[in-house]
Amino acid sequence: MNPVVSLLPGGSAAPATSVSATAAEPLTLGVMGGGQLGRMFVHAAQSMGYFTAVLDPDRNSPAGRVSHRHIQTDYTDPAGLQQLAACSAAITTEFENVPAPALRELAKHRPVSPGADAVAIAQDRAAEKAHFVKCGVPCAPYAVIDTSAQLEAALSANLLPGILKTARMGYDGKGQVRVKDAGALRAAWQDLKQVPCVLEKMLPLALECSVIVARGRDGQMVNFPVQRNLHREGILAVTEVYEGHLPEALQQLAVSAARSIAQGVNYVGVLCVEFFVLQDGSLVVNEMAPRPHNSGHYTLDACDQSQFDLQVRTLAGLPLTQPRQHSAAIMLNLLGDVWFDANNTMRLPDWAAVLALPGTHLHLYGKTEARKARKMGHLNVTGASAQVVRDVALKAAAILGIDAF
Ligand code: ATP
Ligand code: MG
Repeated sequence: MNPVVSLLPGGSAAPATSVSATAAEPLTLGVMGGGQLGRMFVHAAQSMGYFTAVLDPDRNSPAGRVSHRHIQTDYTDPAGLQQLAACSAAITTEFENVPAPALRELAKHRPVSPGADAVAIAQDRAAEKAHFVKCGVPCAPYAVIDTSAQLEAALSANLLPGILKTARMGYDGKGQVRVKDAGALRAAWQDLKQVPCVLEKMLPLALECSVIVARGRDGQMVNFPVQRNLHREGILAVTEVYEGHLPEALQQLAVSAARSIAQGVNYVGVLCVEFFVLQDGSLVVNEMAPRPHNSGHYTLDACDQSQFDLQVRTLAGLPLTQPRQHSAAIMLNLLGDVWFDANNTMRLPDWAAVLALPGTHLHLYGKTEARKARKMGHLNVTGASAQVVRDVALKAAAILGIDAF
């Protein structure tokens, strides 16, 4: 296996050999996980002429339903992994809790990006924070809590009030407890079944932002503009990207921090780094996601290349060019809540009223059951100026019952 192979659609893994575009079955790109991120990856890969294979145990997975192949097994099932490796020219992942050993197994047979080592760091908050420190990017003061003795020692580290976060498997604010004092911290760790955790100091946030970078196997790196993000109850609610949404100096700092974090793990693929901006204006890194990210969905409609296009390019070893944002953009996340009215009765959102607004782009993930807090889709609003997209996005939010921002 050649690790720097360039996988062009419609033929051979070696672009120098003359293979007619019509002679061979298109190459297949594989993805571990069948959620909405996998679905949007599949759409991007297919639009470039690739076939796709998705490994996900759920027969109704959003990506599995639109892929040429859906391998319906557990992520660690040897037969499933073998099938994925056999049919794919290269393999990526769409969720960060994909078991790292499965990626290592696949990497014996095919190029896999991001690599298991980078994914393993992002899967563990303690390893992730150690990586940030190594890269010289400040993160929130924290303590690793694996034992009762470490918990007691953390009490004298000036970390309270804080947030106790499970080291592994957290997402959308799950596995997190806000703790004010020693009693609450001890009780919270009991409630979390004493699994390994990190205790983070609660910081005075002014706002949150994120940066998405794409890095090729040759180390070439490009980035999207910095996204300004609003979270509600631990879940991303709104992303805004337009002229003047963040101070210029802060954007430069965030981009260079994200680039060093990617470089520091020799990352290949699309990486999102999330930051806090504190009330004193300083920038603190929160966490990284080894895949495209919810805060990058606006790129589908507001940029000349989307984050999923760049995932395809990095995976296939194709050239990267710096993406250009051509429209001001706001993304509204569409959680299952939008399918319920004020009396908690199920309803169909008024899509016609939303789509009657100029510059609206509706993306739904094909999930059949709407549940509160479940990500069902997103609405991108694009336009010529911040003013225009804010006006339209606020109107759309009002129609959908999403709080103003
Ligand atoms: P996801 O992976 O979906 O982004 P998560 O479950 O990993 O979320 P975090 O990003 O750690 O959760 O935290 C969720 C939100 O909680 C943050 O976006 C921020 O609003 C708030 N938060 C987390 N840590 C802190 C902190 N140390 N100080 C203040 N607020 C915090
Ligand atoms: Mg987060």
